[in-house]
Amino acid sequence: MYVVCREHLEQAIDEFVDIYETPPDLYELSSVTFTDWAAPTTCNFCKTAPVYLVV
Ligand SMILES: [Zn+2]
Repeated sequence: MYVVCREHLEQAIDEFVDIYETPPDLYELSSVTFTDWAAPTTCNFCKTAPVYLVV
């Protein structure tokens, strides 16, 4: 699972496909809510606020 900014969305998808050999599902963090999980406050690849959830 990756939580990434717009800039690193492509990189997250590439890594996901490398690891799982299947395309990920993409969600906009602002459009989903979680009860048991607090979204990280920074992108997995940089210090920017994340925009997308790649799972
Ligand atoms: Zn980033």
